[in-house]
Amino acid sequence: VDKQEEFVLRTLEERDVRFVRLWFTDVLGFLKSVAIAPAELEGAFAEGIGFDGSAIEGFARVYEADMVARPDPSTFQVLPWRGSPPATARMFCDILMPDGSPSYADPRYVLKRTLGKAADLGFTFYTHPEIEFFLFEDRHENGRTPIPVDRSGYFDHTAHGMSQDFRREAITMLEAMGISVEFSHHEGAPGQQEIDLRYADALATADNVMTFRVVVKEVALGQGISASFMPKPFTEWPGSGMHTHMSLFEGDRNAFFESGAEYHLSKVARSFIAGLLRHAGEITAVTNQWVNSYKRLWGGGEAPAYVCWGHNNRSALVRVPMYKPDKGQSTRIEFRSLDSAANPYLAYAVLLAAGLKGVEEGYELPPGAEDDVWSLTEGERRALGIDPLPQSLDEAIRIMENSELVAETLGEHVFDFFLRNKQAEWEEYRQQVTAFERDRLLPVI
Ligand code: GLN
Ligand code: MG
Ligand code: MG
Ligand code: MG
Repeated sequence: VDKQEEFVLRTLEERDVRFVRLWFTDVLGFLKSVAIAPAELEGAFAEGIGFDGSAIEGFARVYEADMVARPDPSTFQVLPWRGSPPATARMFCDILMPDGSPSYADPRYVLKRTLGKAADLGFTFYTHPEIEFFLFEDRHENGRTPIPVDRSGYFDHTAHGMSQDFRREAITMLEAMGISVEFSHHEGAPGQQEIDLRYADALATADNVMTFRVVVKEVALGQGISASFMPKPFTEWPGSGMHTHMSLFEGDRNAFFESGAEYHLSKVARSFIAGLLRHAGEITAVTNQWVNSYKRLWGGGEAPAYVCWGHNNRSALVRVPMYKPDKGQSTRIEFRSLDSAANPYLAYAVLLAAGLKGVEEGYELPPGAEDDVWSLTEGERRALGIDPLPQSLDEAIRIMENSELVAETLGEHVFDFFLRNKQAEWEEYRQQVTAFERDRLLPVI
């Protein structure tokens, strides 16, 4: 038993924990959980807990179904919403094959493998997500448009606001689980919220995003409302993104910072951005994985739709935030297409891989966009060499299919499963006859 495991075992007794939930994530980013009794935990640390991988979305073929979940003791937390004592705790798991090797289907491993590649080059990858989501008065019922909890907008503060109470309770709970929150505010659409997590290494961030989704849904239900991370619930309002700030560190030094360079961006930062831009089309199916994701990207409301970067330019895919002279260490870039319904492990893996590719190959950064690229004409954008992001899930998967970078990063199994699953989603969607079509056509044709 190592030190962290010992700490967990001791805490179980001290806090009177009766249930230990083992968490992991399927390929589409849905959380899975199995509860074990505290007495089983020592064995779980040593050998893991067996489960049927073929019953998990994207995990295994039926003829090699046995898989093992082994808890990562560094992720141990007591769940504040379960009350105590007796308490309930959770740990994230690594998924293993029966022979103890890492599972090729585990999204957490896909990210770990990519972080390992960054480490080989001497880099640690830090991320800081701004997570947007909606609060509704009602729980979802088939075919019904949801009712937002308020009619407020960006940064609005209203007396007795439902949203403030919600954010306060959610943030308190996140902090109780060791997840630091930096900013929170009402977002642009009615009922829409944003909560920004403090930067952490990308694996911790991805774990934190998974926890965040559970906490937000739990707190909402506790307050008699509901929460959703759907990218674009309303035609007429902005959708929910998960802009993510990123930086590479070499030891204690921010490798994106170079004093005196343009925008204080180092060569590493410039090539990293160039990598993101050159491979943006290929990774979009992963960062924006649902049919609905493309309604956000192409539905206005400050979501990026064109591949370009800019200093302080909110229409750009990659934004370089305003530089604060005393803050070299906080030099970072913001990637804006990612949405709140992506699998955070896979999304951070492909983003890192694209950026690292730029660094390794020394890609040159094209000139930044100074204008609002949404207001340019098609021709003006073409003249500037600014391409659109994929316009639908269908287009995104076609581009991803030919991507060596994404195939290599996800690994063959996840890559194939993901493409097949998304193809099926697209084909089912394509067959739907919608209210939009009936309303347009029935009265006139
Ligand atoms: N909701 C917008 C998006 O989808 C972002 C709005 C903002 O953060 N200013 O990306
Ligand atoms: Mg923000
Ligand atoms: Mg925002
Ligand atoms: Mg932002």
